[in-house]
Amino acid sequence: MMIPYKHEPFTDFSVKENKKAFEDGMKTVEGYLGQDYPLIIDGQRVVTEDKIVSYNPAKKDEIVGRVSKANQELAEKAMQAADEAFKTWRKVKPEVRADILFRAAAIVRRRKHEFSALLVKEAGKPWNEADADTAEAIDFMEYYGREMRAMKEGKKVESRPGEFNQYHYIPLGVGVVISPWNFAFAIMAGTAVAAMVTGNTVLLKPASTTPVVAAKFVEVLEEAGMPKGVVNYIPGSGKEVGDYLVDHPRTRFISFTGSRDVGTRIYERAAKVQDGQVWLKRVIVEMGGKDTIVVDSEADLELAAQSIVKSAFGFSGQKCSACSRAVVLEDVYDQVLDRVVELTKELSLGETKSPDTFMGPVIDQAAFDKIMGYIDIGKEEGRLVAGGEGDSSKGFFIKPTVFADVSPKARIMQEEIFGPVVAMTKAKTFDEAIDIANDTEYGLTGAVITNNRMHQEQAREDFHVGNLYFNRGCTGAIVGYQPFGGFDMSGTDSKAGGPDYLTLHMQAKTTSEML
Ligand code: NAP
Repeated sequence: MMIPYKHEPFTDFSVKENKKAFEDGMKTVEGYLGQDYPLIIDGQRVVTEDKIVSYNPAKKDEIVGRVSKANQELAEKAMQAADEAFKTWRKVKPEVRADILFRAAAIVRRRKHEFSALLVKEAGKPWNEADADTAEAIDFMEYYGREMRAMKEGKKVESRPGEFNQYHYIPLGVGVVISPWNFAFAIMAGTAVAAMVTGNTVLLKPASTTPVVAAKFVEVLEEAGMPKGVVNYIPGSGKEVGDYLVDHPRTRFISFTGSRDVGTRIYERAAKVQDGQVWLKRVIVEMGGKDTIVVDSEADLELAAQSIVKSAFGFSGQKCSACSRAVVLEDVYDQVLDRVVELTKELSLGETKSPDTFMGPVIDQAAFDKIMGYIDIGKEEGRLVAGGEGDSSKGFFIKPTVFADVSPKARIMQEEIFGPVVAMTKAKTFDEAIDIANDTEYGLTGAVITNNRMHQEQAREDFHVGNLYFNRGCTGAIVGYQPFGGFDMSGTDSKAGGPDYLTLHMQAKTTSEML
């Protein structure tokens, strides 16, 4: 009997032993900083001259690792390996595929703090955010493993007398999995294992800023018994390797998580049928967000301010679910704004050497420049009431920033900034607040802080987002509890960590037999 799924608990760092265990994880990681990592194609280690250098965004001179870099030729080699491995992997029993995930989850759980410490170094995560990222990676393996086992009998269809009909899900083929750096472990691992446990083979292209955690994870899959060629590790330039594989006629599906620009490019390119291609590519594309917290006048205003600050500035606002807009009813606006400013000014910023540092750096120079550019735009569009400054001399640090009295149509109210910046605006009525909340091209997450049950029900129907939360912040979805995915330009609403996710990686086959 399987133990029922339950999400991985978060670590309480106020417990001395836990803090010590994390520090030990940090020492383990410090012991291997700067190492070289090869590509893994068909289980073979491939070393290239050309390298991706991964460094600590809090300390630019600290190199986390040097990773070999795939080019089109190596991507082709990986495609051929994955195509070949599919012939046997697709016939491995679903429960055996799932067992590899359970074993991999157990290995990661034993090395949990090491993985989280690696995320502190490679992505600049605060401890609690790194811990949540690792927990989510474990959850994806535990949840999808169970989901696959539950799906193996197929679904019920009717049979007439003298007839036996069956309905089963079979794998698709080779999948290209392209992941972002912000959940460098969870999303990378979750999208790869969902594709793999369903009987597909995978070409895994992690983000170029966080390739080391992906290398460590593929090693874990190997240790857990994954046959060669099933998940191939091919970091490389998104433009060069990404375009090549998206266009490839043997690519059966693409699972992408990242920005709107790249996602729409992939969607468009994947639609074109290439010479020799005998299917229409399946595309899962999860993209950006411009997520809003609405505060009603009948509401717990302290909860509202806490929720805005935590959702806006957790991991420096570098979450697709981050709150980057707050719409507050006018009669409580000043009170909420003042408290948001007060709480924001209390936040600590710096290299996350202990659990007490709330916010670390942003990911790289390009992100720093882009966010500082939006802060300049914000100064024109609203009233700067907290933060607004950055320092990229040692690492990429930007103070948590709040703009007040911003028009709903302003650029900082419409465009994804992906940094520690929140814009606040007033609404006259609850109807208007929901209209403003809906007025972006995205539709990922949102939250409503209200004690008015009718307003809550109105939002449930009218607030058009994939993940809607009441009386809490808009980040922190948990695998198997709050399946995650967005509407509109936030993507294909795949609902990662939900009951429909695995079927996106499969096709249903009907068989009918005369008895
Ligand atoms: P990104 O720049 O779009 O990159 C994502 C991945 O796509 C990286 O591996 C990147 O490789 C690759 N890529 C770049 N150009 C490509 C191309 N032409 N073809 C194929 N792949 C290509 O996004 P990011 O900066 O890593 O992540 C932040 C974005 O992700 C934000 O917009 C955020 O909202 C979104 N996000 C969404 C979700 C969700 O579930 N909806 C979750 C997390 C993040 P390189 O690194 O080599 O460029």
